[in-house]
Amino acid sequence: MPSVLDVLERKSGVIVGDDVLNLFKYAREHGFAIPACNVTSSSTVVAALEAARDKKSPIIIQMSNGGAAFFAGKGVGNKSQEASIAGSIAGAHYIRSIAPIYGVPVVLHTDHCAKKLLPWLDGLLDEDEKYFKAHGEPLFSSHMVDLSEETKEENIAITKKYFERAAPMKQWLEMEIGITGGEEDGVDNTGVDNSALYTQPADILDVYNALAPVGPYFSIAAGFGNVHGVYKPGNVKLQPGLLGKHQEHVAAAISSKSDKPVFFVFHGGSGSTVGEYKEAITHGVVKVNLDTDLQYAYLSGVRDYILAKKDYIMTPVGNPDGEDKPNKKYFDPRVWVREGEKAMSARISTALDDFNATGSI
Ligand SMILES: [Zn+2]
Repeated sequence: MPSVLDVLERKSGVIVGDDVLNLFKYAREHGFAIPACNVTSSSTVVAALEAARDKKSPIIIQMSNGGAAFFAGKGVGNKSQEASIAGSIAGAHYIRSIAPIYGVPVVLHTDHCAKKLLPWLDGLLDEDEKYFKAHGEPLFSSHMVDLSEETKEENIAITKKYFERAAPMKQWLEMEIGITGGEEDGVDNTGVDNSALYTQPADILDVYNALAPVGPYFSIAAGFGNVHGVYKPGNVKLQPGLLGKHQEHVAAAISSKSDKPVFFVFHGGSGSTVGEYKEAITHGVVKVNLDTDLQYAYLSGVRDYILAKKDYIMTPVGNPDGEDKPNKKYFDPRVWVREGEKAMSARISTALDDFNATGSI
């Protein structure tokens, strides 16, 4: 059986540089995508790693700006992005420390960074460069810069500037062009005009032509009607086939040997059908973001436990089995937090199956 490990130098723990490039190339060639799980705590990190280990797949673990701040603590200020910077770095070291014992390759990533949040990314790149000096690799495998709300020209120009800083470390950069609808982490695109939700092939080619001369370590989150969060079916239709048109357009323009020269990222996937995921993957999607679905899964595990054990957690001592019976084994966080982890892990396992990633190592 071919294994993605065959193309990786580091086979377990956080991978960087050419390993990330080779992982995505392998996924694109073999028709699978890797779930990118949003994490906000050590507990959610563990849930993601466990699913990957049990399903024998690589995994992407990512922190949003708000999720990173939560790592630092909701009670500290974040005016100058200090909580998001410190939380991301703490999360990164935690993930780097425990990932190897799960025996799977892990891509360590940061999610959407809009223009007003760029000081966050600047702080992370400072840390990456420091880490690179000491260890010969950046702290994070990859970052995302998301200037999709700006003009195309500004988006591409600023993205290129960041890519020029990341590329010498062989650090991956994900960018967004066209808008993902809906609302996530404080960015509200629910009112955006429908046509803006579909990126045009010429836009993808412009991004490719600007970034490819700098290096191969980049991917594009294109809008094809995807919406953050879960909504009732509305008037925006998901059109994964557009990604195939982008690939054709770029391949023809650059006379590519490959019919899929671009790495695509699928945002706003929660609530999509398995068929929609699989179609997107045939067009070169190598990363699918999962946030909303995982939040709901985690809650459902805790919720079901609390409802089932309600009479065992109302007081420290005393339950239906007796007035003097202790309830410690019911209210220990390792019991009920664990139920959230198990439910989140199960949701990621389903995603690994849906994205054809199961058994890839
Ligand atoms: Zn997103």
